[in-house]
Amino acid sequence: MAAGGATTATPTITCFHPKRIEMEMLGPEESVESFTEVVKGYSEEQARLEADRCVECGICVATCPAHMDVPDYIRSIRDGDYAKGLKLMYRTNPFPATCGRICTRRCESVCPVGIQGEPVAIRWLKRFIADQVPADEYQRILNDQPGSSGRQVAVIGAGPGGMSAAYYLRRKGHAVTVFEAEDKAGGMLRYGVPSYRLPDAALDKDLDYIRSLGVEMKFNTRVGRDIQMAELLDGYDAVFISTGLWVPSSMRIQGEEHPRVMAGLRVLDEVANGRDPGIGKSVAVIGGGNVAMDAARVSRRLGAEVTILYRRRIEDMPADPEEIHEAQAEGVRIVIQAIPVEVMDAEQPGRVAIKWGEAEMVPDPNGGRPRPVLQEERMHTDSFDTIISAIGQGSDLDFISKEDQEQLEVKWGKFIAGDYQATRMQKLFVGGDVANRTADAISAIEDGHHAARGIDRFLSGAAGSGAV
Ligand SMILES: Cc1cc2nc3c(=O)[nH]c(=O)nc-3n(C[C@H](O)[C@H](O)[C@H](O)COP(=O)(O)OP(=O)(O)OC[C@H]3O[C@@H](n4cnc5c(N)ncnc54)[C@H](O)[C@@H]3O)c2cc1C
Ligand code: SF4
Ligand code: SF4
Repeated sequence: MAAGGATTATPTITCFHPKRIEMEMLGPEESVESFTEVVKGYSEEQARLEADRCVECGICVATCPAHMDVPDYIRSIRDGDYAKGLKLMYRTNPFPATCGRICTRRCESVCPVGIQGEPVAIRWLKRFIADQVPADEYQRILNDQPGSSGRQVAVIGAGPGGMSAAYYLRRKGHAVTVFEAEDKAGGMLRYGVPSYRLPDAALDKDLDYIRSLGVEMKFNTRVGRDIQMAELLDGYDAVFISTGLWVPSSMRIQGEEHPRVMAGLRVLDEVANGRDPGIGKSVAVIGGGNVAMDAARVSRRLGAEVTILYRRRIEDMPADPEEIHEAQAEGVRIVIQAIPVEVMDAEQPGRVAIKWGEAEMVPDPNGGRPRPVLQEERMHTDSFDTIISAIGQGSDLDFISKEDQEQLEVKWGKFIAGDYQATRMQKLFVGGDVANRTADAISAIEDGHHAARGIDRFLSGAAGSGAV
């Protein structure tokens, strides 16, 4: 209490700038015109100023699924020592150029700098380091010199999970062969995530370095069709499965097999392969996750008017809020609390109609999230050139026999992984989207690293058969 009874306000002391250094981005009018990367990246001066906001508390380390050494790599930016930053990043993540662009950045949600302002731009600083070091300097700086253990590991799937496992297994000296159904590596990062968020050049920079360690790639080779699981189990000392989620989920409504209904994954795959998916000029996207948002923004770039129909509220959407904001800025219309009921022919030939009803959000008496309940008296019918269904995806495990699936423990189409990503089958390890609940790139990368440690322990005799 001050003299005279007046209270004095506690002064607010801030040791860092509360706002992050603004990132230069393409404006929405420009961004919808092409597939050019939207986020331009920091300059050296901007990156150092942003790095200066980090107080090195280390809280973010535990929240990053890969436990990346964030404070130290951020310090390397302040010191201008990017080679050191790159080395630190590769200890736990061989996809820094990729994660620096599209990581779900859970680390930022706990950064205390965000309490009085915006969290440190951890993801963009990671990208900055990876972008500073030319690809032809990686070998000299990282100095990976794989020996030869005489052991051979098969990896199924060349997504971030499989390729992360391949990298850390090669570092341990094990020979690695990756079996991949598609004709290129990268998995969903190449065939799902659009290039305006993750250009091929950035993804390839990460993948090329991993491959340069002598990973053998067998492209256009689907396990279960071109080679059987039993051959891999017989011919290799260990097998790692990271086959992802590639089967679009059904909307479970009448008429969804209509020829003008397309899966979001298919639209993205066509575009990634340089083909025109032929969506027309007006599109409805059903869903509220990553795939829905990417399909909507890709459709805008193909010149369509886009309406998203989502059954819950904006705050319930699983997509990154930044993505939702950018989609809206690019002219995507979002209709919330809209439940699709039926798909049918539109009056105009060649178009498709969707009947949908408004939903009321009803609180859950058990404290769960509110549930959307269809209001039968508030129905609408709208027609479009194409309806894009993007409500989720599941796994295709047909390459594993039913008996083996039972032995392996598969729940809701996902493997249950034990310690070090091991399974109940000897020498079989699993990871990535097909085994974890988070289904994002950095979790797949960490699963791959973790499995590589487990396989190495198993091959060196430190961990029995590898079975859990
Ligand atoms: C549209 C979209 C946007 C996304 N956006 C983000 C994002 O912004 N940030 C983020 O962190 N994550 C994002 N994700 C999720 C991310 O892409 C995945 O979590 C990640 O790619 C999973 O890696 P993975 O290695 O487990 O599987 P995948 O990347 O799916 O790779 C699996 C690989 O296995 C191959 N394969 C499958 N079956 C076989 C078989 N029988 N034989 C041989 N090969 C096979 C596939 O062809 C594929 O290459 C997005 C996903 C999608 C679809
Ligand atoms: S990989 Fe993702 S979660 Fe981990 S530190 Fe980087 S941005 Fe954060
Ligand atoms: S939580 Fe934020 S301030 Fe703390 S080390 Fe991480 S980036 Fe720096």
